Amino acid sequence: MTRVFNFSAGPGTLPEEVLLRAADEMLDWHGSGQSVMEMSHRGKDYVSIAEAAEADLRTLLAVPDGYHVLFLQGGASLQFEMIPMNLIQGRAVADYIHTGEWAKKAINAAKGLADVNVAASAEDRSFTYVPAQSDWRRSDNAAYLHYTANETIGGVEFGGIPDVGDVPVISDMSSNLLSRPLDVRRLGLIYAGAQKNIGPAGLALVIIREDLIGIGEPAPPAMLDYATHAKARSLYNTPPTFAVYVAGLVFQWLLENGGLVAAEERNIAKARLLYDYIDGSDFYLNPVDKADRSRMNVPFRLANTELEADFLAGAATNNMVELKGHRSVGGVRASLYNAMPIEGVQALVDYMADFEAKKG
Ligand code: PMP
Repeated sequence: MTRVFNFSAGPGTLPEEVLLRAADEMLDWHGSGQSVMEMSHRGKDYVSIAEAAEADLRTLLAVPDGYHVLFLQGGASLQFEMIPMNLIQGRAVADYIHTGEWAKKAINAAKGLADVNVAASAEDRSFTYVPAQSDWRRSDNAAYLHYTANETIGGVEFGGIPDVGDVPVISDMSSNLLSRPLDVRRLGLIYAGAQKNIGPAGLALVIIREDLIGIGEPAPPAMLDYATHAKARSLYNTPPTFAVYVAGLVFQWLLENGGLVAAEERNIAKARLLYDYIDGSDFYLNPVDKADRSRMNVPFRLANTELEADFLAGAATNNMVELKGHRSVGGVRASLYNAMPIEGVQALVDYMADFEAKKG
C-alpha cells in the first residue's frame, strides 16, 4: 500500500494514526460488537463518544463556560445563512470584512437576511492582504462583525482576532480552526466545516456564546435555530455520528501530540519551509503580503504558467496529489493542514527544486 501526500484543501488529509484507529475499531467499537456507524445516536455508547469529543475539543481550545459547542450538518455554507437568521433582529446591520472568495459567499448569503455593510474590502489589490483595522468603516450599531479567518482559496489569513469592543465577532474558521491556540473568549461565534482540519465531511462545528442564542427576530425555523441544537445538545435529530466519532479521534490525537501550542509550532515550520523556498526562487510566485500569508493554504504560480500542468502531473507521479489551485483561480495550491507531516512539505520542496532545475 502506498499512501500519497494529499495537499487537498478539503476534504483534506487526516492523521494516519486516526485512520488506523478507526479501521481497528470499525467492526467492533470497544466490545460493543458493532461499528460506530451502526449505533443508535441515543444509545449510551454514541452519547459517550460525542461527550468525549466535545470535552476534548473544549480542552484543546480552552472553551470557557458560557459557550455551547454544536455538532451540526449543512457545512460552513449553512452557517453563512444561520448566522444572520439567528443574530439579526428585524433588519439590523451586520458588518463584514471582505477578504476573498469565502468572505464573498458569506456576504452574499447574508444580504437577503440583514443589511450588510462591507466594512472593508481587499478587492483593490485582488484580495492579497488583510485590510488594516484602522481603515475599516464599521457601522455604529452592527449586530455583529463577520470575518473569514483564513481564505482557503486566496491563501490570506488573519494573524489575530479583530478588536471591535462589544460587537460580537463571528469567525469562519473552516480552514484554520485547531491550527493554533485561540482565545475563544474574544469571539461570539466560531464556525467551521470539519473536512479540512477537524475530520470527515458532513460535520460542521459551531462554538457560540450563550447570550447569542435565541435572539433572532423572527425566530428561525427549528432546524435552523441554534437554540434548538443547544437545548438538545446536538441530538435534536440524527447527527453525523461517524464524522463526530472521527473528529473526536482527531481531537485525541492533537491532545496526545502537545495540543495546539505544538500544532502551531509544526504549522509554522511547515509554512516557513514552503514560503522560504518560493521566495528564494524566481520560478515560483506567491502574491500575498508576507504578514497575511496563510499557514494552511499556500497558493502559488509558476512564473511560466504554461509549465503548471506539467508540474502537477509530475507531482502526482511522485505521490503528491491535489495540488491544483481552486478551479476559480488555477495555478497551484498546497494545503498544509495539521495532519500534513513536515516530510510531505519537504518532499514537495525537493520536487519543486528538481522541477525548477530541469525546466528553469
Ligand atoms: N468557508 C471556508 C473558509 C471554506 O474554505 C469553505 C469550504 N472550502 C467553506 C466556507 C464552505 O464549507 P462547506 O463546503 O462545508 O459548506
